Amino acid sequence: MSQRNISQLKKQALESIEKRKEAVFALADDLLNMPEQGYREVRTSARVKAEMERMGLAPRCGLAVTGLRADLPCGGGEGPRIALMGELDALPVPTHPFADPATGAAHACGHHAQLVMMLAAAEALIPLAGELCGSLSFMAVPAEEFQALDYCRELIARGKIRYCGGKCEFIRLGILDDIDGVLLIHAGHDTFVPESYNGFCMKEIIFEGKAAHGGLRPWAGKNAASMARSALNLIDAQRDTFDDKDSVRIHGIISDGGNAVNVVPARAVLELQVRAKTPEAVSNACKVVDRSVKAAAMAFSGKVSIHNLGGYMPYESSETLNKIHAENLKELAGRTLGNCGHRGSSTDMGDVSMILPALHAYCGGFAGSPHGADFVVTDPEKAYIEGAKLLAMDMIDLLGENAEASRRLAGEKRKMDKDTYLKYKENMSSTEEVSYDQA
Ligand SMILES: [Zn+2]
Ligand SMILES: [Zn+2]
Repeated sequence: MSQRNISQLKKQALESIEKRKEAVFALADDLLNMPEQGYREVRTSARVKAEMERMGLAPRCGLAVTGLRADLPCGGGEGPRIALMGELDALPVPTHPFADPATGAAHACGHHAQLVMMLAAAEALIPLAGELCGSLSFMAVPAEEFQALDYCRELIARGKIRYCGGKCEFIRLGILDDIDGVLLIHAGHDTFVPESYNGFCMKEIIFEGKAAHGGLRPWAGKNAASMARSALNLIDAQRDTFDDKDSVRIHGIISDGGNAVNVVPARAVLELQVRAKTPEAVSNACKVVDRSVKAAAMAFSGKVSIHNLGGYMPYESSETLNKIHAENLKELAGRTLGNCGHRGSSTDMGDVSMILPALHAYCGGFAGSPHGADFVVTDPEKAYIEGAKLLAMDMIDLLGENAEASRRLAGEKRKMDKDTYLKYKENMSSTEEVSYDQA
């Protein structure tokens, strides 16, 4: 078959999305009304599978518990393999108008819209496969929100997962080994891309002292709550040693500070998130935290165990993908793509971006506060249709006309290879115990 040019292919894709609008909105309604938390997205996963099979795709299922991947080899010759991604999970926000009454889960981060955009783009691209190069992959990935840690730990103990983030699991399991680039559009208030995100390491720090009567014989005890307090002071006193350019944020809670006011606490627990803009800066900030908690335990001759519970890598945008996305927004809607610069929050797309060029763009069409009870779709056209069209156009640019644009993508150097990435992740999932107990 002779290859049509990129603008002819885009025209057909846009018309096909436009024609299927009502079906796309119906799918969005379905997914919005079946919110499920990370690694428990069973119904959502089944709905995505059914939708892929209806389109004639043959998805592999049960990847990283609930994830899916469907491949569509193209007939237009050699080229890269590019993946469109959507996240499956919802959040526990029981007051959200579309919360599941039984579980309290709700799409308060709008992940259902990602699946809708990915699937609507897939359906528009399937008829064009004979004229595109390389290969297309469509993926639904579990557990982006890094929540329900107890459930994650249970899955880790049962050997079902190793990391809390679904994309981290996709990398570990080799599901992205043959992929050359990944695109995703997240729900938002406006159409923009971030330049970068912080990465983080999650820490649970357990101090152990000795219980005693708080009034009668406090000198017989060792106050674990005081160790935790001192550790936080030591960390706070060093905040000005972090370089501004590293965007370090250390925040957390005291999740256990003792059992009764008249008992010297024998145990105290801190849960901290250590965030920064580069993997090195996260590691350096972690060293400050680790030294501080050890120094606090030493001062009281107590014990401390540091449980590193993993986290996400910093996100670094791809210049090529951002540029293609910006050109397509201009072509489609006549608007300029915003760039919001660096964000202090984190996403497991960061993990993907360390080893592959990745696009983590935002669409408009939502109002309210992300993760809040008021985060809802106000403009379905922007929330579902515009993003689907942009993803289809981006894909056609990457894989159309001999995959010319993808050559720039292949030239983009990423921060790590998969082995270096996995070593870093293991380091961020380690445990250290130190005792300064002199009885
Ligand atoms: Zn979120
Ligand atoms: Zn999200």
